[in-house]
Amino acid sequence: MENLLEVKNLQFSFRTYGGVVKAVRDVSFEVRPGEILGIVGESGCGKSVTSQCLMRLNPEPPGFFEGGEILYKGKDVLKMNKKELRQFRGKEISYIFQDPMTSLNPTMRIGKQIEEVFVGRKGMSAAEKKAKALEILKMVGISDGERRYKQYPHELSGGMKQRVMIAIALVGSPSIVIADEPTTSLDVTIEAQILDVLKNLQKTLGTSIILITHDLGVIAKLCDRVLVMYGGKIVERGSVDEIFYDTAHPYTKGLMHSIAKLDTAKGHKLQPIEGTPPDLFAPPKGCPFAARCEYCMEICKDMPPQTYELSKEHETCCWLQHEYAPDTDMRRKVTE
Ligand code: SF4
Ligand code: MG
Repeated sequence: MENLLEVKNLQFSFRTYGGVVKAVRDVSFEVRPGEILGIVGESGCGKSVTSQCLMRLNPEPPGFFEGGEILYKGKDVLKMNKKELRQFRGKEISYIFQDPMTSLNPTMRIGKQIEEVFVGRKGMSAAEKKAKALEILKMVGISDGERRYKQYPHELSGGMKQRVMIAIALVGSPSIVIADEPTTSLDVTIEAQILDVLKNLQKTLGTSIILITHDLGVIAKLCDRVLVMYGGKIVERGSVDEIFYDTAHPYTKGLMHSIAKLDTAKGHKLQPIEGTPPDLFAPPKGCPFAARCEYCMEICKDMPPQTYELSKEHETCCWLQHEYAPDTDMRRKVTE
């Protein structure tokens, strides 16, 4: 089936007092109908900025596109005017922000916040709007919708608020929903419930979901395919199985290590990858991960690594796949 969305060589930067921050550097990927695509990486790796580019949600200025294309069903999002963008947002793609506590309006009842999205839609009576709002609340697993409809955000638990955020994202029946760290502020039980809600939407409505997270555990539970981002770039991509069982990039290996430790030894402290992400004011000229990579070679500091195709879905951007690179546990068979 045709891709819903195609991102080609996207570059997005911010002008700041300190100079230009290159937040998204030559990123390409596609979103297919009905899939759950994970984008994983540490904070500041560019995953939120990238996904907000898809709806032009980053403020422009200070942000600006330095290059690339975003094609939604063949139409270039970067060429849309304000009116086209307004119609596009929420109806074609919608965004669930990280923190439901700050994204909901504290002075407005839940029902009204959902119905706000219908504003401007002609020919809908108040009763029809309410019926639709209740139907959507049910879809996100809120069974006592009548009661919730009249409540204010402060009367809801964190998990309940996140369900409402998902409900609001669904009002326009979008083809793609972007969920940005949707469970970060929730405890583990509630997290599992919210992930179930997302999974169900994908199954019953066929909505494609882009799930942004720093947590590979969340990826494992939900996603079909994964993009691993580092320093504003995609460093590895593949099916969930390939990323977990055939890891080909040292950064992904590091992320994996940090969850494995957590699983095997209860109470064991999360083992972060040593060092800090690169300075995006002046990105390193070679591999962005060079300063932290246990496998770093001379070439890594001087030249940006090539992308190596390991299977139809699996790609890694790392010199270790070069035919002259030393044999390491990261070596995978490169398809010719
Ligand atoms: Fe490490 Fe070099 Fe691969 Fe970068 S290109 S991840 S520095 S081995
Ligand atoms: Mg973020």
